[in-house]
Amino acid sequence: MLIKLQESHKHVLELSRVDPLTGLLNRRGLYEAIKQPINYCKRRHNGWSVVIMDIDYFKNVNDTYGHDVGDEVIEKIGHLIRNMLRKSDIASRWGGEEFLLFLPDSNVKTACHIADKILRAVHEERITSKDIHITLSSGCAEAGENESFSDVLKRADKKLFEAKEQGRNQNVR
Ligand code: GH3
Ligand code: MG
Ligand code: MG
Repeated sequence: MLIKLQESHKHVLELSRVDPLTGLLNRRGLYEAIKQPINYCKRRHNGWSVVIMDIDYFKNVNDTYGHDVGDEVIEKIGHLIRNMLRKSDIASRWGGEEFLLFLPDSNVKTACHIADKILRAVHEERITSKDIHITLSSGCAEAGENESFSDVLKRADKKLFEAKEQGRNQNVR
């Protein structure tokens, strides 16, 4: 009985950290998952970076093809992102059609390289059976010494905004 209770408790905790559509961590899960690697990077004076990605004109996808196709697009992109990362990288579904990547031991150059690779793959891949062209925009930022996660994220978010302004389907650092 106790073991069963412990197991279901574990399951509930897991559910509260994972996004059911993509299987990636949700925002709460991401915040928990980055604590250790941030401390680890700090101790070793290693850099870490954040990439924030957002699907371009996603509202059009929903409006044109329906919400279910929209969901399928989010799911596929989530899988694609996870499959393109290193094991130590942490990917999350940050919000509706936004993904956040935490990259330990990575400077901004490495982060941009990874972001560019993902953007290219999404641009080139047929994400759904429908002939929809999906692109992503992204912003990257590397943590300064002792900079907090939320400050780095703010900088990455500004870069994402620039990527959108400059025409989308691009990464800005
Ligand atoms: P931009 O290129 O500026 O990012 O334009 P956008 O249309 O992608 O951005 P906007 O913020 O206007 O719209 C985002 C849309 O994403 C609106 C919302 O309905 C949709 N969305 C958010 N979460 C989900 C979801 O879980 N499933 C589906 N199908 N749509 C979602
Ligand atoms: Mg958005
Ligand atoms: Mg969008």
